[in-house]
Amino acid sequence: MNNQPPMLTIVVPCYNEEAALPETITQLTSLMKELCQKKLIGKNSNILFVDDGSQDRTWSLIAMESVRNKFVTGIKLARNVGHQKALLAGYLKAREKCDCAISIDADLQDDITVIEEFIENYHKGYEIVYGVRNRRDTDTFFKRTTALSFYRLMEKLGIELVYNHADFRLLSKRALDEMARYSENNLFLRGIFPLLGFRSTKVFYDRKERVAGETKYPLKKMLSFALDGITSFSIVPIRYITFLGFFLFIISLIIGTLNVFHFPIVSVNPTMISLWLIGALQLIAIGTVGEYIGKIFIEVKARPKFAVEIDLYTGSMVERNHEHIRDNLLFEYKK
Ligand code: UDP
Ligand code: MG
Repeated sequence: MNNQPPMLTIVVPCYNEEAALPETITQLTSLMKELCQKKLIGKNSNILFVDDGSQDRTWSLIAMESVRNKFVTGIKLARNVGHQKALLAGYLKAREKCDCAISIDADLQDDITVIEEFIENYHKGYEIVYGVRNRRDTDTFFKRTTALSFYRLMEKLGIELVYNHADFRLLSKRALDEMARYSENNLFLRGIFPLLGFRSTKVFYDRKERVAGETKYPLKKMLSFALDGITSFSIVPIRYITFLGFFLFIISLIIGTLNVFHFPIVSVNPTMISLWLIGALQLIAIGTVGEYIGKIFIEVKARPKFAVEIDLYTGSMVERNHEHIRDNLLFEYKK
């Protein structure tokens, strides 16, 4: 077992961030130096900028900086693929070398001073550390309310999310490896990490204003992101169609029966009733077909069904190299 401090890679997706990058590079670099000095991270740690097909000087800034700054490195994607896929590209690249990775936006809206706490939690044995916003003061009223209703809806649909957590998180190599087994195309990363089920914890921070530049998430992208989140994790909307069909079916049956016996309170034109009945039956039919499509949707994803946390069979139990973590875990699981 070696007790070297872990190699950290900070993954930063960037799309047209030339305005924010210089400041981001300065701040992250001095943070890296500090963490190295405190021996919390290895000297080979680095910051991986992912240029998501920017049209401005983003890539030349990254490339230039990588020559004179040993912490800075980058990859350039061939075209703009969007934040989630750019982030995934960064994670998968980081996985090749690092012991743990932290993702953060290029605009420094997330408080980088809590990164030290992330690392401390990693040293304590946590595989995933979620950065969670305390308040949303810097967001507009609109963004706050839409975000809140989004979390509520997701909860109702049975999708587990960490409340007020975006994409500021630490992942151990093992969490990255497990994530990599999710081969789906329709990516909603923050829905996947709670599914992995490793030991995880939260660190709270206040979200700030962008250092520079403007948001790359206009309303249209935000809506389509939310819709992706729902439809890539849940088939509940389909089920609601079936329920609606049954509901209408029963209502029209009741009204139809009352009508037949000439109950004075309801007197509806029979044609109307048959219209409702047929509408209801159609909804049930669509819902039923939807159920099967839903099953196909789940199967096509071919998601991994489990993640092994401890393997006493082959003995390669915890890949992480700190002995005390392993002993702690063993103790906990043998209890
Ligand atoms: N981003 C990206 N590709 C895109 C859009 C955004 O890589 O197509 C990056 C962007 O550079 C930033 C992060 O994703 O680092 C979050 O974007 P932004 O800050 O604009 O979103 P907001 O904080 O306003 O929700
Ligand atoms: Mg931002």
